[in-house]
Amino acid sequence: MNILVSACLLGLPARYDGAEKAADWVLRLAGGHTLIPVCPEQLGGLPTPRTPCERQGGCVAARDGRDCTAAYARGAACALRVAQLNRCPVAILKQRSPSCGNRTIYDGSFTGRTVPGEGVAAALLREAGLAIFSEEDESACLAWLSDHA
Ligand code: SF4
Repeated sequence: MNILVSACLLGLPARYDGAEKAADWVLRLAGGHTLIPVCPEQLGGLPTPRTPCERQGGCVAARDGRDCTAAYARGAACALRVAQLNRCPVAILKQRSPSCGNRTIYDGSFTGRTVPGEGVAAALLREAGLAIFSEEDESACLAWLSDHA
């Protein structure tokens, strides 16, 4: 199966701070699936490293106050295009990211507090019908993959 995956979870240095966040169980899926890395923030035109952003209602703001909503929307649309081109029925995305979080995101105050919510790309992919998991959902994701093999 083709699985869309947050690039940082596959060890690619895509994060705002230039780091990665490889998840071993996700990497192991490469043994039986095709993992397709995508970083919505890079696809949206943002540099790496970059100023961190957080969702603030319907907008996305950088810590320095810039409005990055358009870049996030562009990146989400590109991520969806990659998913569609590769017929990915499922995505594994990095929790808490303003792009990729599937249940929890930072609350917009840049204080490290989190709230229930979705990243911009995660929401678009879910609305398009993909099953969305995060690196914290190993059991649920493995069960879904087994059910849909
Ligand atoms: Fe990882 Fe997603 Fe952030 Fe890119 S936008 S660094 S893929 S969490």
